[in-house]
Amino acid sequence: MNDIKEKIEELRKTLKYHSDRYYNDDAPEIEDYQYDMMMRELIKLEEKYPEFDEPDSPTKRVGGKADNSFENVVHTVRMESLQDAFSKDEIREFEKRVLDVVNKPKYCVEPKIDGLSVSLEYENGVFVRGSTRGDGNVGEDVSGNIKVIRNVPLKLNKNIPYIEVRGEVYMPKKSFDKVVDRQLLNDEKPFKNPRNAAAGSLRQKDSKVTATRGLDIFIFNVQRVDGVTLTSHKQSLDFLKELGFNTVPNYTLVDNIDSAIAEIDKIGESRGDLEFDIDGAVIKVDDFEMRKALGSTAKFPKWAVAFKYPPEEKQTKLVDIEIAVGRTGVLTPTAVLEPVHLAGTTVSRATLHNQDFINEKGIAVGDVVTVRKAGDIIPEVLCVNEHNSDKIYEFPKYCPSCNSEVVRENDEAAIRCINPDCPAQLLRNLIHFCSRDAMDIEGLGPAILETFVNCNLIEKTEDIYSLTYDKIDSAQLEGFKEKSINNIIISIEKSKENDLGKLIFALGIRHIGAKAGKLLSDHFRDIDSIINANVDDILAIDGYGDIMAESVVEFFKLQKTVDLIKSLKSNGVNMFSKTEVNDTRFSGMTFVLTGTLPTLKRAEAGKIIESFGGKTSSSVSKKTTYVLAGDEAGSKLDKANSLGIKVIDENEFMEMIK
Ligand code: NAD
Repeated sequence: MNDIKEKIEELRKTLKYHSDRYYNDDAPEIEDYQYDMMMRELIKLEEKYPEFDEPDSPTKRVGGKADNSFENVVHTVRMESLQDAFSKDEIREFEKRVLDVVNKPKYCVEPKIDGLSVSLEYENGVFVRGSTRGDGNVGEDVSGNIKVIRNVPLKLNKNIPYIEVRGEVYMPKKSFDKVVDRQLLNDEKPFKNPRNAAAGSLRQKDSKVTATRGLDIFIFNVQRVDGVTLTSHKQSLDFLKELGFNTVPNYTLVDNIDSAIAEIDKIGESRGDLEFDIDGAVIKVDDFEMRKALGSTAKFPKWAVAFKYPPEEKQTKLVDIEIAVGRTGVLTPTAVLEPVHLAGTTVSRATLHNQDFINEKGIAVGDVVTVRKAGDIIPEVLCVNEHNSDKIYEFPKYCPSCNSEVVRENDEAAIRCINPDCPAQLLRNLIHFCSRDAMDIEGLGPAILETFVNCNLIEKTEDIYSLTYDKIDSAQLEGFKEKSINNIIISIEKSKENDLGKLIFALGIRHIGAKAGKLLSDHFRDIDSIINANVDDILAIDGYGDIMAESVVEFFKLQKTVDLIKSLKSNGVNMFSKTEVNDTRFSGMTFVLTGTLPTLKRAEAGKIIESFGGKTSSSVSKKTTYVLAGDEAGSKLDKANSLGIKVIDENEFMEMIK
């Protein structure tokens, strides 16, 4: 019996760990299918051994929790999860449970969109709030980010007093490809799949970032409505459409479970053709009176079931391994496969991560391998089925682009080309330099940059600013007419006015992303102060650690950087921070906000602090200047007291900003 108890506890611990990675970090470490199978095992054990029951078990809780960085929203209508089914038999068992309670139900069958669940509220037809599901009872207020999503109506077609609807925010496959391309280009860890990308993008602090991610939404439920009576799901979906919502597509109303199963198969077959990811199909009892009679468990309604499509795996031949060189010189291997049809798409390439992954699986060119594509867009090689040779693939010793020797630095999985003049790196550096979050030179996209590098119009990054109309024109490139050349020159000129933060990011300093670039620029305010800063000076910036600070100092010491900055300066590129700071009374100070303030919202207080040149941080550390605490301030207040950080209330804060 002790063994069983241990097993149950182990499963609960593992599931909680993975639930945290999935919901709170948006970075799952295992496939959904693996997670679902572990959950299955736990449900079965808990049913068989009720003596080990625990109210806090993951089987009884809706995953996720509201993060402190957003205001909490208490859901007046609980946002439930769904019970799942992995076989047709389980759907028939669901039907049996339904028929025990109601007679001749009709079912609505819909695709199950793989995104994250949100609630949208409207008063008198106007959008007032958008929130995440959280744990089903308390979510996060992400109104600012919801508003920038395509297809979220800010005003409805009808002026109804109040309506709350539920939907799924998702990232279309096309947007996902673009976001991942950008991440790879910047040597950032790419999102694993569109679901995680959607969740990560919706929970951004800055709505402007969310706006660049191309999110969309499908609405699938009326949570609450005043002044209108709805009696069935189908009727409510039609009503939602009338109001101007983008409702869940391809839904069908059927009379019996056989037709519902046929619909599930149909949706499954169309999976690869859809512009968005689905992880299943949902069967819902249509009639609201019947739903009431069926009721809910602590976690999900008893009137619906989600059929989850199993991940697809297929064997194919690994024809070749291609190595690409990234912007920071990292060599990345891709498996070239004999094309196979998998989860609705043709797969001919799969990621092989790095040399360690290849060694672990024992992969060689010519092997027959199993490729898997679950919810994930990027397929992966699962294992080798037939070895073609005993000689495991080894990375080249020389860079495939410039032929210089590659190195593997201590503790790193990555193998890099460290030749600063490697042409592959030059092109990737240029693409990064001109990209939207960097210098935003619209006219210089990847294809044009490649052309300019190939015909030697650009040999170093700084050459961008010595491009002239005549230089481009005299290269006599196909397709470069007067208008297109002028557009390039105009966008280069415009980029000279950018804020210093964008330039810092554009320089491609290792470990320094767009936000870190802006922090550096806002703190030091001009490039020379950054160049002269030492590691300790940089560590004064909240958000910077040793690795980042050292990386900045090392970068500005390089002769190549000195030459680049000199050239950019002489070409008139702005070298100053443009963030406005009129009254700098909070300059150099960091505030942590906690608890509920009597009159100010936390976001308002944060804006005031920033407008006076101060910063806010979500955690208390020795670098914190003040903790602004309201009612029910919790662990942050305790930590401030233990570190001796000054704690102020709203009155004191108001005095400070008078
Ligand atoms: P769920 O994803 O299985 O189903 C509930 C959700 O489906 C709802 O929140 C709803 O927003 C969404 N949905 C999409 N389309 C819908 C439609 N047409 N009608 C109704 N609802 C629709 O349940 P969950 O609790 O959100 O998540 C659990 C799942 O998350 C697990 O089954 C697992 O696959 C995955 N997960 C994976 C990991 C991991 O580490 N890989 C960890 C935790 C959870």
